[in-house]
Amino acid sequence: MFGRGPTRKSDNTKYYDILGVSKSASEDEIKKAYRKAAMKNHPDKGGDPEKFKELGQAYEVLSDPEKKELYDQYGEDALKEGMGGGGSPFHNPFDLFESFFGGAGFGGGGPSRGRRQKQGEDVVHSLKVSLEDVFNGTTKKLSLSRNVLCVKCKGKGSKSGTAGRCFGCQGTGMKITRRQIGLGMIQQMQHVCADCKGTGEVISERDRCPQCKANKITQEKKVLEVHVEKGMQQGQKIVFEGQADEAPDTITGDIVFVLQVKGHPKFRRERDDLHIDHNLSLTEALCGFQFTVTHLDGKQLLVKSNPGEVIKPGQHKAINDQGMPQHNRPFMRGRLYIKFNVEFPESGFLSPSQSLELGKILPHKTSKKLSQKEIDDCEETTFHDVDIAEEMLRKKQQYREAYDDDDDEDEHSHSEPRVQCAQQ
Ligand SMILES: [Zn+2]
Ligand SMILES: [Zn+2]
Repeated sequence: MFGRGPTRKSDNTKYYDILGVSKSASEDEIKKAYRKAAMKNHPDKGGDPEKFKELGQAYEVLSDPEKKELYDQYGEDALKEGMGGGGSPFHNPFDLFESFFGGAGFGGGGPSRGRRQKQGEDVVHSLKVSLEDVFNGTTKKLSLSRNVLCVKCKGKGSKSGTAGRCFGCQGTGMKITRRQIGLGMIQQMQHVCADCKGTGEVISERDRCPQCKANKITQEKKVLEVHVEKGMQQGQKIVFEGQADEAPDTITGDIVFVLQVKGHPKFRRERDDLHIDHNLSLTEALCGFQFTVTHLDGKQLLVKSNPGEVIKPGQHKAINDQGMPQHNRPFMRGRLYIKFNVEFPESGFLSPSQSLELGKILPHKTSKKLSQKEIDDCEETTFHDVDIAEEMLRKKQQYREAYDDDDDEDEHSHSEPRVQCAQQ
């Protein structure tokens, strides 16, 4: 069937691009991406029919495991070849759309002609959590109020469950005004009918639902339990599908929580690893140490040096399986890295006898001994203490001032001769 063999190079990313998902997207993500895009681009809502067709094709392939595998391996052509010559391998995009949404509401005839199901907005909240929260996992209870369809009238707004057709727009929800703007030129403008706010319906005073006063919606207080799972990452989304504000003829959007992991005074996270700093005294660095680290779950870790081991300033050590738990595989954990800073003694001086003693103990550096002649040939220097950060800052400022002056001169001195050259 695939005469040219599997080695053929083929484009197999297009469908993913059309739906705006990555190649590793899950079935669910593909479905959602299609749902959103198809709603937005439906020709009944003024979308581009060509784009709508493309979306249907992309979804038809990527939602079918067999077709998806073919496509991932061999690209678009494989699908056409698989269909056995001629004809489009795809279904009518409208049929697909109808089957996706169960044929309900959108675009289909039905009793409420002209009525369209809109895609409701997603509500996005950022959810601040601590590093401890994503280390241990937690549940956050959040209370929020949202619009729901009125229970009493089931979102109809009237006691009878019906509504009259709006006289102002003849039930279309839109009004068109025309005006002549020139010879034989007519400008046509469409706007939402103000009488019915675009619904195409009016509810008579005495038929109004007493509960929602014909607003069709009421407010509801709701407590959401947001499960923050072990190992979740900064920016990760927790989605409550179809939990956003309800509205008549609208597919309810999602409530989306985006995790914001707060910084921690001690631990720094890098994906599944954790990093901490630890200060050692010079004595500890040379002679050995042990200390405890209180982990993010309160557990005490004992950290100690190997006998005889000397720690250098800036040296790192890693402890396996004491990092972050991996999301969805919390028993797998990253590493805990410790960076050692070595603090030298506060007093910068040693007595001659201390120097002598230390010199005997510490290994000698191989700096070669200078001969008297070599010393005589040198220029003697003295050095003094500096605050290097302050020094650099001061120099930077000096440089900037000097540079700014130069800049001004440049403009005047160089531009004129250049012009003269060009004229010759
Ligand atoms: Zn109207
Ligand atoms: Zn009501």
